Amino acid sequence: MSDATITVRAEAPGVLPESLLRRFDTPGPRYTSYPTADRFVEAFGANDVLRALAQRAESGAAGGAAPLSVYAHIPFCESVCYYCACNKVITKHHERSAQYLDALDTEVALVRGALGPGQRVSQLHFGGGSPTFLYDAEIERVVGSLRRAFRIAGDAEMSIEVDPRTVTPARLGTLRTIGFNRISFGVQDFDAQVQQAVHRVQPFESVRELIRSARQLSYESINADLIYGLPRQTPESFARTVAQISELRPDRIAMYAYAHLPERFKPQRRIVDAQLPGPGDRLRMLGGAIAYFLGCGYSYIGMDHFALANDALAIAKRQGRLHRNFQGYSTQPDCDLVALGVSAIGRIGASYHQNAKTLPEYYDALRQCRLPVVRGIALTRDDLVRRAVIMALMCQGRVEFESIALAHLIEMREYFAGELQQLAPLVEAGLVEIEADAIQVTAAGWYVVRAVALVFDRYLQTDKLRQRFSRII
Ligand code: SF4
Repeated sequence: MSDATITVRAEAPGVLPESLLRRFDTPGPRYTSYPTADRFVEAFGANDVLRALAQRAESGAAGGAAPLSVYAHIPFCESVCYYCACNKVITKHHERSAQYLDALDTEVALVRGALGPGQRVSQLHFGGGSPTFLYDAEIERVVGSLRRAFRIAGDAEMSIEVDPRTVTPARLGTLRTIGFNRISFGVQDFDAQVQQAVHRVQPFESVRELIRSARQLSYESINADLIYGLPRQTPESFARTVAQISELRPDRIAMYAYAHLPERFKPQRRIVDAQLPGPGDRLRMLGGAIAYFLGCGYSYIGMDHFALANDALAIAKRQGRLHRNFQGYSTQPDCDLVALGVSAIGRIGASYHQNAKTLPEYYDALRQCRLPVVRGIALTRDDLVRRAVIMALMCQGRVEFESIALAHLIEMREYFAGELQQLAPLVEAGLVEIEADAIQVTAAGWYVVRAVALVFDRYLQTDKLRQRFSRII
């Protein structure tokens, strides 16, 4: 029997036989950072972050610091979605946020103290959990604290993740007045049976009304998140969701593969294994969605992401200016990232760090006026080279040897001789081309770009270590 193939327009991803996809469908990270967070160590703590912030402050005083990106994590949600893999706290007690916001204020003051005044912020993102668990006045309070501590640029991207069940069109208006100009709706799937199976019921009509309102309120970019591979999804039901979301024309669509890892994520234990679609159906959902989005005017940005042609991400992709950070793809050059809140991950200079993952630990550190950092990593020269290669693959699907050589003073063919050899099966399968002066992911290779990037990950070269990550498809 011949392979099923997925055929979409030539621009990417292309045509890939199902057997090839299965062959390279290995567990692997999504590379929002390199090294990945599982490599962070406890030996890197609050004092290291303070040192990195002080170094940034010094270079800022000398006029050298690029603008900052700021992420605020709001962990609370009123009810649990069974597919959830986020760090969240499920509660209906809204009064719990008061203590959290006090702690957040202390954290902002500590970071501001280390960085000094006047740090320009070009990107501010509220994520969770559910940021809209907070009342409007509470969200305004957090934004106010940040505005007093930092200099938020007039043209800064201010984005917020929104659970459609927690907002009304009027609330979207208030968020816009507070300053948010980008909004991301967690949609996942419109099918009523799927919504029940994942314990997240939000009818199509309400999402339609919210997206229309967001557009009338002139949000500069509206994103919708979808997930394929959820319980009770079929290729046919997911195709309906894909058509429905396309009809609403969000500027961006992120379509993630559900990773069923119940041993790691407790809520997922409530998902009935027998209701999960098999690998063949997942593949058909992915291929069908890609074909549909490309066919109705969306451009493929990279792993899981689509955008309308006039959206900033699509323009950045065309111009080779795409970047990747903890929120996924971004138009902003690699900024230092101040991460606030429980479990948040930041990046300052050549280092990453993560805050305490539980509220008691987080509160405890801040009560003692200590940054709540529990682990991190200082990047070595080798990490920096590999990060550059991996991010070039994930963003552009292409690594120019010369640009890596100039930035990192290495000879690609020598430095990565072993890795270039390891690419041979991918080259032979037509997923990667090794040119005289570049590595190019082919149109079909975009399906498995994580498998290509993985070759350059020094830490994850054994299958054993990879198992903790989700599979690619
Ligand atoms: S998926 Fe989002 S809204 Fe649902 S429980 Fe997890 S963090 Fe909360």
